[in-house]
Amino acid sequence: LNKLVALTHKLFLLQTGEAAVGKSSLVLRFVNDEFQENKEPTIGAAFLTQKCRLEDKVIKFEIWDTAGQERFHSLAPMYYRNAQAAVVVYDVTKAASLDKAKSWVKELQRQANPNIVIALAGNKIDLVQPVDDGEEDPVESGRQVPTEEAKAYALEAGLLFFETSAKKGDGVRDVFTEIAKKIPLEH
Ligand code: GDP
Repeated sequence: LNKLVALTHKLFLLQTGEAAVGKSSLVLRFVNDEFQENKEPTIGAAFLTQKCRLEDKVIKFEIWDTAGQERFHSLAPMYYRNAQAAVVVYDVTKAASLDKAKSWVKELQRQANPNIVIALAGNKIDLVQPVDDGEEDPVESGRQVPTEEAKAYALEAGLLFFETSAKKGDGVRDVFTEIAKKIPLEH
């Protein structure tokens, strides 16, 4: 009676997207709150966990961080088969990385668990600098993917959408907590 019971809910999550967009850095920021400037690329896949309090729940994120290299692509189904959620990452300074992200989304929507929650994360926003040219619409340097374009795509494809900086930490926690809010949790 009146006992406080902390139940831990497990959430299986997959990180995917083109190589070097910052997938590992995003998880590292979320799990250890750190950033490495010259990170060694992930070979195959890495597994990390993080417990997080969300409202009255404790959630244990079990995260597979898969390597973006094409030669590991055939291994991907092994990781997304049981995933409840996926974070598909692109780099806001590289237009081609959004195309790659879109093809991952297509594959997940076709082949993964039909209830999978997918979040699209445009990473490296710290590399985008506003340029004050005196005009009304602010111009940004360094950006190749406009926020509105990615957001419109995410809305149409039924994805959660975030812009993040693993380097500075902006938006990173939101990716994981918003995903957790969307998933019916079991113990
Ligand atoms: P992955 O291959 O997608 O896992 O990418 P990594 O996490 O290994 O990151 C690739 C490179 O981008 C590394 O040199 C990181 O330090 C760098 N990087 C990752 N995230 C960010 C970010 O948010 N901002 C900046 N400026 N660099 C980042």
